[in-house]
Amino acid sequence: MAKKKRGLKEEYNLLTRDLDWEPSYVPFEEMYPYVSFEGIKIHNWDRWEDPFRVTVENYVRIQAEKERKFHAIRENIDMMQSQLDLTDARWLEAMKLFAGVAFNGEYNAHRLFQYVSRHVPIPAIRFAAFTQSVDELRHVQNEVLLFNNYNKYFQGFHSWKKVSHRHWLMSVIKSFFEDAMTAGPFEGLAAIAFGFEVAFTNILFVTMGSTAMANNDLCYTAVGFTNQSDESRHMTLGMMAIRAMLEEDPDNAPIVQKWLDKWFWRSYRAFTAIAYILDYVAPKKVVSWKEAFEMYIEDQVLNGLFKDLEMFGIRKPLYYEQAIIEKDRISHQAALILHRVSHVAFFHTFAPTAEDQVWLEEKYGDTWRDVWAKKWEQQTDPNYERNYPGLPMLCQTCQYPMVFAEPEDIHKTAYRHSEYEGETYHFCSDGCKTIFDDEPDKYKEAWIPAHEILSGNCGPAEDLLNYWGIDPEDGGDYYESTDYKNFEKWKKMRA
Ligand code: FE
Ligand code: ZN
Repeated sequence: MAKKKRGLKEEYNLLTRDLDWEPSYVPFEEMYPYVSFEGIKIHNWDRWEDPFRVTVENYVRIQAEKERKFHAIRENIDMMQSQLDLTDARWLEAMKLFAGVAFNGEYNAHRLFQYVSRHVPIPAIRFAAFTQSVDELRHVQNEVLLFNNYNKYFQGFHSWKKVSHRHWLMSVIKSFFEDAMTAGPFEGLAAIAFGFEVAFTNILFVTMGSTAMANNDLCYTAVGFTNQSDESRHMTLGMMAIRAMLEEDPDNAPIVQKWLDKWFWRSYRAFTAIAYILDYVAPKKVVSWKEAFEMYIEDQVLNGLFKDLEMFGIRKPLYYEQAIIEKDRISHQAALILHRVSHVAFFHTFAPTAEDQVWLEEKYGDTWRDVWAKKWEQQTDPNYERNYPGLPMLCQTCQYPMVFAEPEDIHKTAYRHSEYEGETYHFCSDGCKTIFDDEPDKYKEAWIPAHEILSGNCGPAEDLLNYWGIDPEDGGDYYESTDYKNFEKWKKMRA
């Protein structure tokens, strides 16, 4: 007689959840040493279920199938010389920036989710975190392989390890993930699964994805496609984790609120680079940062998601009003400073062309005409010294240079500072200052590139480019670069 087939849920329980056990000779606190450290109270660890009910066998089969497709696409891109289909090689200046960020961001996400899956005693979360950890490793490997295609023809992709780990600008994303990794396991989970995945990744994969597609970048499209198919699991994990903490005990709400405040601001600041890509780098632009921010952050996150959390006593994240005020600023602020530091960057920068300016005016209207167009006029004056001569002051928390304006005064740069143990620390915003003030002993340890360079920890000053893994030609102006000249030449040859 044929055996009765087990249901999906039963199968899942047998293969995953029921493998969890009560320790008999090791105390619970010893098995999960960080579990009480953050003050999160969970009464019933088993109540939570992985909404995906993925078994290891299923997971491996689905992922292997995706890998097979992805590598076929990757080889095809290489064979068809698809880099020549790009609207303009200028788009790759965005991909260089993305590559630097993604390589160390994804790898550190992999490490973080290992940590979460080891230390959070909720079986469903542990399993979901474990699969996410494997996903993140897959992402970084695929990204490195894809940019390997570009590295054959274009500058700036050649020393990804050094760039990712050492370049001064990459400190922004490194400090972001290292902050999460050195928090307790529940905060680490809230930081990335909620703050990053739930609140911001739509912009990364949907908005950036459609911009990449509009510019015929098959590499990013392929990477975005295979990565995004893991995203729904990651976002669900984020929502489940927040709900689990809030529903289990009302005492958790103030702790969770603080994490949402902090990681909303940290994620938002980190995404400044994406604002620059959408508004400036893309030769063919699809959605402005301002529009993306309104659609995904204001409508979906602030007015949608946070509305759903109101029943637990959660309010909108601290300083969200400032993020809204900044929506027609940050891409321009980033572009203006990056334009001045391209001699120490692994990507080329440029001033907006006439065509770019028409679009920017259309999207940003008055602020464009009254503020940003004027600043560009000044900065592109032949008598203006384009290369920034020194080391910029960096924010102790987010590690961006001080380029953000006062919320109430667009013409005045915002500076905040705190005194701690006789030292003065500097910040770009109220958001970053508040994060520092809450845990000064953590952030006083931040590895600030400008300080480390001056302390001699990055080798001799005259050899910094080598330390960062860049050649002088990797930076400078795009329209004077070999990348631009080659691309024009190759396009003609192909035509
Ligand atoms: Fe990822
Ligand atoms: Zn900051």
